[in-house]
Amino acid sequence: MLMIPGPTPVPEQALLALAKAPIGHRSGDFSKIMADVTAKLKWLHQTTNDVLILTTSGTGAIEAGIINFLSKGDRVLIGDNGKFGERWVEVAQAYGLNVEVIKAEWGKPLNPEDFRVKLEADTNKEIKAVVITHSETSTGVLNDLATINKYVKAHEKALIIVDAVTSLGAMNVPIDELGLDVVGSGSQKGYMIPPGLGFVAVSPKAWEAYKTADLPKYYLDLGKARKDAAKNSTPFTTSVNMVIALQASLEIMQREGLENIFARHLRHRDATRAAVKALNLGLLAPDDAASASITSVLPPEGLEAEKIRATIKKKFDIVMAGGQDHLNGKIFRIGHLGFVSDRDILTAISALEASIAALGYTNFTYGAGVKAVIEVLNG
Ligand SMILES: *Cc1c(COP(=O)(O)O)cnc(C)c1O
Repeated sequence: MLMIPGPTPVPEQALLALAKAPIGHRSGDFSKIMADVTAKLKWLHQTTNDVLILTTSGTGAIEAGIINFLSKGDRVLIGDNGKFGERWVEVAQAYGLNVEVIKAEWGKPLNPEDFRVKLEADTNKEIKAVVITHSETSTGVLNDLATINKYVKAHEKALIIVDAVTSLGAMNVPIDELGLDVVGSGSQKGYMIPPGLGFVAVSPKAWEAYKTADLPKYYLDLGKARKDAAKNSTPFTTSVNMVIALQASLEIMQREGLENIFARHLRHRDATRAAVKALNLGLLAPDDAASASITSVLPPEGLEAEKIRATIKKKFDIVMAGGQDHLNGKIFRIGHLGFVSDRDILTAISALEASIAALGYTNFTYGAGVKAVIEVLNG
């Protein structure tokens, strides 16, 4: 049982699609599927912009989102308050962009004021893009995309490029309403299918920038992808079965409805956080900046994060995620993203209680975590 922020659990309808014999990626049958999947992706992204399918992991989608709309030496502001923000700094530097990093401590949200000050001071309009990780998966912090985006919009020139890998399909990311230029995501997160596909939504303003952007690109050239997408195709052989699995998962999502999907993720976040508090464990992300897809837990003195994880795995075959880099051994992360039900949250919290009890932790009343979950789930 995967309770990690990707790969996430996959429903049977999608698994069955993966078991089928592949069909030709240039066949008429496959074009029909591409047309349907693209329409459904636009629904999920709440946009009329292009939504392109890449055969990459999430990183490929964000790398494409950065390199297609910028030129060598362009000044970009990148938010870094975790592993993924740090990665986009590395990508931008690898391509020779002039990167200004806006940092916040891991576990804290980015401060929108830091962006406002830089953007307002840039009267020569040298800043070409602002890159933000919406839900920072390494910490479970949700950055204030709407406020940062407001300052980018006031600047007028800069594009906003968003890593929405653990927010898209879990939290509200209204692309058209906010006017987000480039939004990247990956299949193994909110999409409820395995790793292997990346998605990039691109605004008309970003396509304008594409025309003069000179960073090197080939496989990740979104212009190529756009041209072929207009014919319901892809420039290179896509993962045919994954696209068919995606059609199945998008059908499930449409049946549930966006409002219900977002409400479910918020409910699971609130239930998990309430349980963690009731067990007298700590939470890394503050209540007002907590991602709905992942919760980072700080064990108290004397209880080791890695031992808790190992015990939950061994006793209950439930996988939770560890901390990355300097947070390794300091936190463990409970993923509640994608194909996750109320039953899964009850199960995970019960297993957590049983495991910390088995490790000799006594600073809680048996059932306190489960009680907290029930209270949130019952509203
Ligand atoms: C998972 C993830 C990615 C993409 O990682 P890949 O391993 O390349 O799929 C990017 N950003 C965030 C915030 C993520 O959680």
